Amino acid sequence: MGRVYNFSAGPAVLPEEVLKEAADEMLDYKGCGMSVMEMSHRSKVFDDIIKEAEQDLRDLMNIPDNYKVLFLQGGASQQFSAIPMNLMKNGVADYIVTGQWAKKAYQEASRYGKAVKIASSEDKTFSYIPDCSDLPIDEDADYVYICENNTIYGTKYKKLPNTKGKTLVADVSSCFLSEPHDVEKYGVIYGGVQKNVGPAGVVIVIIREDLIRDDVMEGTPTMLKYKTQADKDSLYNTPPCYGIYICGKVFKWLKKQGGLQAMKEYNEKKAKILYDFLDESEMFKGTVVKEDRSLMNVPFVTGDKELDAKFVAEAEANGFVNLKGHRTVGGMRASIYNAMPIEGVEKLVEFMKKFEAENK
Ligand code: PLP
Repeated sequence: MGRVYNFSAGPAVLPEEVLKEAADEMLDYKGCGMSVMEMSHRSKVFDDIIKEAEQDLRDLMNIPDNYKVLFLQGGASQQFSAIPMNLMKNGVADYIVTGQWAKKAYQEASRYGKAVKIASSEDKTFSYIPDCSDLPIDEDADYVYICENNTIYGTKYKKLPNTKGKTLVADVSSCFLSEPHDVEKYGVIYGGVQKNVGPAGVVIVIIREDLIRDDVMEGTPTMLKYKTQADKDSLYNTPPCYGIYICGKVFKWLKKQGGLQAMKEYNEKKAKILYDFLDESEMFKGTVVKEDRSLMNVPFVTGDKELDAKFVAEAEANGFVNLKGHRTVGGMRASIYNAMPIEGVEKLVEFMKKFEAENK
């Protein structure tokens, strides 16, 4: 079997070019006689890799100089604790709960201080983004937290919330580098890279310098203090070296594609093919309100569990894999991250049309 069309929500498809290049360099990275997996994180070779990766990310996202870029471990989930531990100075933070990941972050923050749920879309199974133009922001809130793209439910903020001057913190795990981000609008942007950026094991945190403090919550582990990591340029301890190296290659690939604006246009074109079909199909239906549709994660259902299962099985047999919806939602979900080629979506839609005709 050759390569399949992989619609996994993460870890997910990576650009073939990146994988091939990494394979070519596997035994001997640029003439140093070893793999990046085998070299010291204190070596000059690795230092060049991490510095170049950071610079390429800064170029892609236009990251201002007063923001630090940290390459960390522990996944996005560890940030659910690191954020309140580092940022809750007044002990209060506002959370907008638009899905399981925002809910988990909110629940975790509640362990460290007063986390306030200021808006939620749980009443309608997280199928929309609440109106965020005039939220009851707490006067003492240290930050307002969002999950910008909801991987499981397939919604995305098209406009950032009005935080009334408070620091915005965003989990962008599933929309990272899928379009331009205006970094200055955030205090912290972070994401696990295993969807759009690289292999599992790296989380990237972009944080404004004034939020990096020494006087964090008592008991904060050294490793979870942003200051520890920032002072040592992500090399306080052994970083996820190989993962950072692959992320660096993906950053170069993105530059070659024309950067994030070009990526956005490509992603819009791709998503439109699938959404247009869902809007006209009698069998398959999208599950979220149109205005809040994600460009990255597209959930859909037939309304009949048996038919859903039949579709997933037949799709897999035809080389379209990982289309089963999240266990909490059911149905199907096609994750169409940056590295999913447009042909993948076109062929999936062709297959869906054929399935619909055969199963009327
Ligand atoms: N946040 C979002 C938006 C996610 O989609 C996920 C995982 O899918 C997570 C957080 C959790 O990431 P991790 O498994 O890296 O902790």
